[in-house]
Amino acid sequence: MNFFNPSKRAEIVRSRMIKNGKYLITKITSSVQETNVPHKILSDYFRYKDYMDNKEWFSASLKEVWSPKFLGLVENIWSVPIRQVKKLELQNPSYSAAYRLGGDPREYSKVFTIQVSGCDFDCNYCYVPKQINVANPELGRYFSAKEMISFFLSAKQKSKEPMNVIRISGGNPTIVPEIIVDVYNEIKNQNLDVYLWIDSNLSTVKYLESLKDNLKDIFNQKNVGVVGCFKGTCKEDFSLLTGAEPEYYQRQFETAKWFLQRGTDFYVYLPALVYKNNIEEKLSIFVEKLKELDKNLPLRVEVLEIIDYPGAKLNFERAEKLGRPLPKTDQRTVFDLWYNRILPKFYSKEDLNKYCCEIA
Ligand code: SF4
Repeated sequence: MNFFNPSKRAEIVRSRMIKNGKYLITKITSSVQETNVPHKILSDYFRYKDYMDNKEWFSASLKEVWSPKFLGLVENIWSVPIRQVKKLELQNPSYSAAYRLGGDPREYSKVFTIQVSGCDFDCNYCYVPKQINVANPELGRYFSAKEMISFFLSAKQKSKEPMNVIRISGGNPTIVPEIIVDVYNEIKNQNLDVYLWIDSNLSTVKYLESLKDNLKDIFNQKNVGVVGCFKGTCKEDFSLLTGAEPEYYQRQFETAKWFLQRGTDFYVYLPALVYKNNIEEKLSIFVEKLKELDKNLPLRVEVLEIIDYPGAKLNFERAEKLGRPLPKTDQRTVFDLWYNRILPKFYSKEDLNKYCCEIA
């Protein structure tokens, strides 16, 4: 099978992602994504995500919210829909923001999302349509950081619930890190009490490195967190999932190391997609590789369920025709192995009873 070179792809898409100090932001209302969660669309270009869509969590006491009650998996994982396998869909950024800034994680659960158009991978499970990930200017609009923050402030003012987090997502924002610098500086200059959460697909340090002087005082700030999403637990799975050449699997670890070396409050996502054969072994080797970066990094992993959103279905079908179907492995198998068998082999119960942000 032919896999592509993501470095070349990054060069091409990046040239369309920035123009005169403005960034190409996805037009959500023409992306199929607007059908995923229609009530969370704020305008043609901006949406929010509720990181904790869970009634029990919202009505719990603050003590319970920080207790192990909401950690890990429900007991009957084999008989519930995949979306209910984890007690909380995602801990972060709500917990990481509250842990670092003080307060209640529920004050940080409504997350204003800036979705840059453009990505250097072509994941078979991605919920963003391919024509957006190639950074097609006709499917977005260029915004300056000032315009984005101004839209955020007006959405925050209208919001009934607290809106205290801005997430820069994509696509892959770390191939246009200028947006991180500009948005962060805008937050700082306006003296806003906001937590900034940044997504990366960890494909390369090239653009981060070229801006390292501007970024060096941003990633170690209290109000900044970064999540790196690893694709696959071995190079063969990586290429099937992303379409990228297998040697780029290792780049993800190098990029994660780059963030860690800069004192970043760094987290990991791992989609629950592992191709058949040796699943437990693949996950165990992945744990060992993360431990080489930091002995506690596996405890900062959140395994993600992959949902068949309308946008994702288009990519499932397209990738299948290219010979890169999704794994047939039940995602529950990955959850069960990771949380119930593999992590307990490496870590104490005390460590397993902590939220990712509480892990040093
Ligand atoms: S899942 Fe993320 S890394 Fe993969 S193609 Fe989509 S935006 Fe890019």
